[in-house]
Amino acid sequence: MYVCGITPYDATHLGHAATYVSFDLINRYLCAQGSKVEYVQNITDIDDPLLERAHRDGVVWNELAASQIQLFRGDMQALGVLAPTHYVGAVESIPLVIDAVEILKDRGAIYSIENDYYFHNSPETGFGGLAHLEQSEMEIIFSQRGGNPALVGKLSPLDCLVWMAQRENEPGWPGALGAGRPGWHIECTAIAMHYLSKHSQENTLIDIQGGGSDLVFPHHEMCRSQARVLSGKELAAHYVHAGMIGLDGEKMSKSKGNLLLVSTLIEQGTDPMALRYALMSQHYRQDRMWSLQLLVQAEESLNKLRIALSMPSVHETRSVCTEIADALADDLDTPRALRSLQKWSHLTLEGSSGGDASKLQDLVDTLLGLSL
Ligand code: ZN
Repeated sequence: MYVCGITPYDATHLGHAATYVSFDLINRYLCAQGSKVEYVQNITDIDDPLLERAHRDGVVWNELAASQIQLFRGDMQALGVLAPTHYVGAVESIPLVIDAVEILKDRGAIYSIENDYYFHNSPETGFGGLAHLEQSEMEIIFSQRGGNPALVGKLSPLDCLVWMAQRENEPGWPGALGAGRPGWHIECTAIAMHYLSKHSQENTLIDIQGGGSDLVFPHHEMCRSQARVLSGKELAAHYVHAGMIGLDGEKMSKSKGNLLLVSTLIEQGTDPMALRYALMSQHYRQDRMWSLQLLVQAEESLNKLRIALSMPSVHETRSVCTEIADALADDLDTPRALRSLQKWSHLTLEGSSGGDASKLQDLVDTLLGLSL
């Protein structure tokens, strides 16, 4: 499983948290049912937004990245997200990117504009088969998400940067195509293929590629297209995307300045398990709204569950354990799993008996990641 990680300059807002909790649930479920999961997550520790933020704040870009990565890992740990098998940085992966770009060059899939190199998304690469958008929609979204469809010299407006020549006062690394740095899409393609394609199947390289739904286009579409040229195979057997998190009826975004950070909420005294519970109280694929009310409800349910689990005798636990496992098996239906838990807490607090609290507590920890 490959899940696209953060660019370390605004870690970790609730949207990130929702995405990584979702993939943590998949990881936990697969491990619990006996699969060996090799889970890779990248960290885009060199990219335009990181350099822009460092410049704005008058800090050194790699120090900003290091501090944000540390904050992110702390947040993930607090939220009960198990660490991936490999966290892989973009900077440490530059040799992998250079190798991949060389292969693309040999196959005639890249071309230069000035000293930058672009990957050509031709129909043979299956481009467009993931997002299923019209050309005009793709061009709009591409320009909103860091692409430049209008750039003079492009073979096709949706071709993407794979190697950017070093700019004045910016970092660069030596490579056969001149000093520069990787484009974002080829970074993920190269890392996913290097770490995970040893598990490849006849027609697919990896089992799951994941991320937030804002990555479907252009990011995962581009990665998929590049992987086709590099390997002749489909990048992933399953593309899994988590919905976006809004705040009080509005989209949560950098430009609106309404990002809620996990670290801030925890500093203000929010129980990280209540945050996790609240994020799981709605389905992972849905675009969801965050509100204080959602958090308060989560705190109340969690409190009841803690009290119920500490009772000397508890309601029968076998059915609730089965219900939780079944709900998760059904496309991670966490709202249903949490409703079963609430019902169990209620029956226990009403005085029903016959169960084993420690068995339920273990299952809630293993599958839902709630340490109580
Ligand atoms: Zn990615």
